[in-house]
Amino acid sequence: MPMSVQLPLIDEIKPACYTLESLLVGLAIRSARMSIWKFWSLPRKSQEKSKTSPLQLRLYAEAMLPTVFGDFLLSVYRDQNDEEGALLISKDLEQGDSPFIRVHSECYTGEVLGSLKCDCRDQLNLALQEIQKRGCGAVVYLRQEGRGIGLGNKVRAYHLQNQGANTIEANHQLGFASDLRSFEAAGIILQARGVHKIVLNTNNPDKIKGLQDAGIAIVERIPSLPPLNPHNEDYLRTKMLEMGHDLSPLFSKKEPR
Ligand SMILES: [Zn+2]
Repeated sequence: MPMSVQLPLIDEIKPACYTLESLLVGLAIRSARMSIWKFWSLPRKSQEKSKTSPLQLRLYAEAMLPTVFGDFLLSVYRDQNDEEGALLISKDLEQGDSPFIRVHSECYTGEVLGSLKCDCRDQLNLALQEIQKRGCGAVVYLRQEGRGIGLGNKVRAYHLQNQGANTIEANHQLGFASDLRSFEAAGIILQARGVHKIVLNTNNPDKIKGLQDAGIAIVERIPSLPPLNPHNEDYLRTKMLEMGHDLSPLFSKKEPR
C-alpha cells in the first residue's frame, strides 16, 4: 500500500504525537538555521576583531612528529579567535644562533594534491630536508592559502588562469590584491621561541621586509629553487617579473638551452 494512504491514518490516531513531532522538526530546522548563520558570520566577525586588536598567539599543542624527512617538533598556535592559523615545524631550534628558517604559506593544491602549477610543495620539502641536514631550524607554516585569498577563491583564480590570465591578473579580476599575506604571525612565534635573527629561506623580498618589520633580523638569505616544469613556468616567471621574486637562477639555467 502506498505511504500517502497511510499517513492520514497516523495523523488521525495520534494527533498529539504529530503536533509534538512538528514542533521538534520546527525546532531542529530553527537550530540548524542558527548554526548555519553562526558558521557564515564567524569569518566576518574574526576579520573585524583582527582589524581592531593586535594579533595574539598562544601555543595550544605540541608533540614530536616522525616524517619522511626525519623527526620534528610540531607546535600548533591559536589566535585570540581560537583559529589555528600558524604552525611551527622545528628541530632543536634552541641550538642555533641564527637558525635556518622558512616561512611557508599553506598550499593545499600543491602539498596535498601534488599540483604542478606551483613550487610550494617542493619548497616545503627542500626546507624540511635542509633542516634535517643542519640538525637545527624550522618551518613557520602559515595557513594563508592562495596568497591569502583562500582555497575557493584560489580555485576560481585557477579557472581564470586556464582561460589565459596570469596569477596576478586572476587575483585582480576577482577583486583581490596581488598578495594579501601577512608574516606578522611568524615574527611573533619566532620571538616567543627566543629566535631574533635567522637565516631565511626565501626568494620573496616582501617576506624579508615583513619579518624585519616584525622584529626579526635576517643575517643571510638562502634561495629556494625547485625545478621548473611546463605547468609552473609561467607562474614562476610572473612571480619573478611582477612580484620581484629572485628566481633568476632558475631561468638563467634555462636560457642557454
Ligand atoms: Zn602552491
